[in-house]
Amino acid sequence: MKYTVLTLFPEIIDAYFASSIMAKAVNRGIVAYRSVNIRDFALDKHRTCDDAPYGGGAGMLMLAEPLGKALESVGAVPKDDAGHLSGRVIYLSPGGRPFTQDVARELAREDELILLCGRYEGIDQRIIDAYVDQEISIGDYVLSSGEVAALAVIDATYRLVDRVITAESLEEESFSGGLLEYPQYTRPELYGTLKVPELLLSGHHENIRRWRLKKRVEKTLALRPDLIRRGEDTGLFDGETRKLIQELGGERNERDTGHRSLPDEG
Ligand code: SAM
Repeated sequence: MKYTVLTLFPEIIDAYFASSIMAKAVNRGIVAYRSVNIRDFALDKHRTCDDAPYGGGAGMLMLAEPLGKALESVGAVPKDDAGHLSGRVIYLSPGGRPFTQDVARELAREDELILLCGRYEGIDQRIIDAYVDQEISIGDYVLSSGEVAALAVIDATYRLVDRVITAESLEEESFSGGLLEYPQYTRPELYGTLKVPELLLSGHHENIRRWRLKKRVEKTLALRPDLIRRGEDTGLFDGETRKLIQELGGERNERDTGHRSLPDEG
């Protein structure tokens, strides 16, 4: 996977690529990266990259020309007459497609992501119309710039690229199979008065697997019932998971409403 990040602040992006697992992935040649300073493509000697919006209004907008030149310097081409795009150019924007684990999986399959970071009040619309393949939002809030959003997209996608981390680590983590992750514990066995659940010390793999699945269902029902509904609607869950959802969901209803649900008839 190759990441190309267009930004007014390359140092933010560079620091991230120089640290931890990402630095290892880059050194091992699994991930490649370049940051491009949009200011290098400014047209005047002051290296201006922003101006006031036509029609008035608060704040400044990023100029089209430096952005267009920066994009073309990394191989992006304007849409042709048929509206076809040649690359995967993503503009980070609060109005974009919501970024989820499913979107991360989809993007992790690309060979290259070209990530365009906005600043100020955003960018000239003509750049979006001419070059952008997809706008992505990392949540319903407004950040002061796109760098943090680009790093969220990079962080969530690169770890899904083959050989970055083990497939086993990805298997049962949050959102895989439509559930959140089970609770985890490490040493010491006794922390103050708090003990690690006995069963995890038993070495009984099948019991541990069942306990973990139960905890995943319990936690998802409590914290993200929307994920359970989505998993049910899309037929994501196997029989064992569906049974747990029925049992634990029923128990939750009883607790919440004080009513015992009647067993299914027939
Ligand atoms: N005026 C814009 C609006 O109301 O939609 C907000 C501009 S914001 C202050 C500056 C830049 O931060 C945007 O161009 C975008 O690149 C980035 N940004 C802000 N919030 C974001 C979000 N939730 N997801 C992705 N990028 C975001």
